[in-house]
Amino acid sequence: MPRIVMNHGAGGEAMQEFLSKHIVPHFPKASSDVPLDSMDDSAVIDGIVLTIDGHTVDPLIFPGGDIGRLSVSGTVNDIAVMGATPVAIACSLILEEGLDMDTVDRIMESMGRTSMECGVPIVTGDTKVMGAGTLDKMVVTTSAVGRRSELLDGNLAIASQCRAVKDRWCTDSNLAPGDVIIVSGTMGDHGVAILSSREGYGFESEVESDVAPLNKMIAEGLRAGGIVSMKDPTRGGLANTLNEWCSKSRVGIEVEQASIPVREGVAGACDLLGIDPLSIGNEGKAVIGCVPDLAEDVLKAIRGIPEGRDAAIIGVAKEGNRRVVMRTEVGGRRILEPPSGDPVPRIC
Ligand code: MG
Repeated sequence: MPRIVMNHGAGGEAMQEFLSKHIVPHFPKASSDVPLDSMDDSAVIDGIVLTIDGHTVDPLIFPGGDIGRLSVSGTVNDIAVMGATPVAIACSLILEEGLDMDTVDRIMESMGRTSMECGVPIVTGDTKVMGAGTLDKMVVTTSAVGRRSELLDGNLAIASQCRAVKDRWCTDSNLAPGDVIIVSGTMGDHGVAILSSREGYGFESEVESDVAPLNKMIAEGLRAGGIVSMKDPTRGGLANTLNEWCSKSRVGIEVEQASIPVREGVAGACDLLGIDPLSIGNEGKAVIGCVPDLAEDVLKAIRGIPEGRDAAIIGVAKEGNRRVVMRTEVGGRRILEPPSGDPVPRIC
């Protein structure tokens, strides 16, 4: 009998297939702007933007962050990358009997601080305890609602002056050939920080998680205008995000390896461990698709915010073949395949 394996929750092709076979078909279809089966960062129904994430990161506290900061940031970012304004967060805690109170206090304090930082309050919640040994310390589930803003309307109006724009939100299916792809900073920091602190490789002295709420940075990008698609490259990293965009927007994407920012410590650690920094998760980065005329303006706006200081233009959407082609630093071309799952388990 087939059973659940770790890869079913690892954010790549194996999870996509699992969801579309065993989860999504059982749920009745609702008529909504962005429905369940579009499997975007958030759903949009009756004008409300809604998202939810369960967090199982191991360890609970890691270089650069903890499960509390991660859960607030991840959920706020899923709302923000739709082009929506996050309004409020709900939080469910499941705790293991015997977990020490200091850890609980520290993580809740971090959630509160991150909520202050992004200006999105936690307004409701639920707490349950499970017996010792039946759960690994703590699972934090956060949900958020968001709403449409004049900022998004203005941004899409500017994009529409350059070309016809299909969706009213910054969805995965909204790219067109010619659109420019921007990343808001270095790739792979979170995955390497988690792996390193878990396995004790010692990279943690150099690499910290990038976990951060991005709603303020994204608001600046929208103010510049011309953004049509956004996504936070979490599990499966940039490779997964770009491949999802190719299949949902029916375009090809060409990227320049030399333009993709990767920290030296992350590149070194990935080399040593034989993993690709473009396939591991980020928790404080956005990938942005923008009409070509506004790309420099959006880049400049994003770079003006601390979370976006390393932002770069990395490529362009193309007509035809729905694949991600990377021009390598040595002048070759290779296909950037969609990862089967994030190589680092329990990354978020
Ligand atoms: Mg997302």
